[in-house]
Amino acid sequence: MSGPEWLERGMQHVWLPYAQMQTTLPPLPATRTQGCTITLADGRELLDGIASWWTACHGYNHPHIRAAIMAQLERMPHVMFGGLVNEPALTLASRLASLLPGDLERVFFTDSGSVAVEVAMKMAIQYWLNQGQTGRTKLLAFRGGYHGDTIATMAVCDPEEGMHGLYNGALPEHFIADLPVDAASTAALDALLAQHAGSIAAIITEPLVQGAGGMLFHAPEVLRTLRTLADCHGVLLILDEIFTGFGRTGTMFACEQAGIVPDIITLSKALTGGTMALAATVARRHVFEAFLSDDPLHALMHGPTFMANALACACANASLDLFATEPRLQQVARIEARMRAELEPCRTLPHVVDVRVMGAIGVVELDRIRDMNALKTALIAQGAWVRPFRNIVYLTPAFTITPAELSRLCAAIHTVLAGLRPDQR
Ligand SMILES: *Cc1c(COP(=O)(O)O)cnc(C)c1O
Repeated sequence: MSGPEWLERGMQHVWLPYAQMQTTLPPLPATRTQGCTITLADGRELLDGIASWWTACHGYNHPHIRAAIMAQLERMPHVMFGGLVNEPALTLASRLASLLPGDLERVFFTDSGSVAVEVAMKMAIQYWLNQGQTGRTKLLAFRGGYHGDTIATMAVCDPEEGMHGLYNGALPEHFIADLPVDAASTAALDALLAQHAGSIAAIITEPLVQGAGGMLFHAPEVLRTLRTLADCHGVLLILDEIFTGFGRTGTMFACEQAGIVPDIITLSKALTGGTMALAATVARRHVFEAFLSDDPLHALMHGPTFMANALACACANASLDLFATEPRLQQVARIEARMRAELEPCRTLPHVVDVRVMGAIGVVELDRIRDMNALKTALIAQGAWVRPFRNIVYLTPAFTITPAELSRLCAAIHTVLAGLRPDQR
């Protein structure tokens, strides 16, 4: 199939994400989006099951976000955040502070999730330095975790997925432990903290769901344990809600389900409803206050060029409007119920080892996926845009997906998994 001219020319010059470019399937040329539909250059339509890496929670091209970006574009697309502030950014900061639990009230804007995590790491390390505590330069992170692709964030990802071996020598070394899911792992974590708290600035984890690590779920109790251990041993707690934030797990933020407040939280992905790059690192009052002093060296020395971009902040404000005016969390609850019912039949298929659902996250886990390209091709042939990875096929649809659309996606997954030849699965 020959595509549009820009595709063939441009493909000689782009470097694709997460792809062995010698063997990867050719990417599909997307030309339009609307609702939960992605239209390709040849006119084919795909029903989107994953909302563009979990971002497009209101579906594509929502008119309210479009209007907000057009209005902001007329006034001012961007102005530097050094020495100047803008209304969308300050309004967004106030709104995030009032939505987030506790005194998470001081917002530092960046333009990607990885950088938001790096800022959280810098905040945590310098929090202690500013109080004269040197030597607390390590993070404590967890197996199965994912916090970004930059060198600093890879070092707090799962050691295998973060390629700690391949990058041996290039990554700073942190403590990587098992999540405290039972008595033994809790005791082990407690012992590790007892021994090393003096060199640890913060614990970092994704609350309730480890996303890119394989959509692994844990109970709210695990987060309460982490909060208790962090307090006990005097280290900070960073929750990375870049994936879970903004309704994905059924509450606005996952930490609400545990009733805990982290010292620092990171947000991105659905922050602008999937329209523009924006991220935020939000600190509690005591964290912020540790940076206030007459010593210039106590300041947080960070400031991305496009920090607090007015267009992106206008999109985020419009996205928050939609959470306030449309029944997003009820929609998530309905998606949860439907996926529970309609993904469940996959459990009896060959090689399926688990089916699990939390909020608007539905996962079918296989013992392994032998032929990833065959699986991806079969899903596309069903008209479903679903991107299996590792050993899972999952759905994280827009919250506005219709029941009929969601049923089509669940059925497509079942059909494809049931129809794979033995050598493909
Ligand atoms: C996606 C993700 C990141 C990284 O965000 P980018 O914008 O891709 O840099 C970090 N943490 C979590 C939990 C994520 O899901």
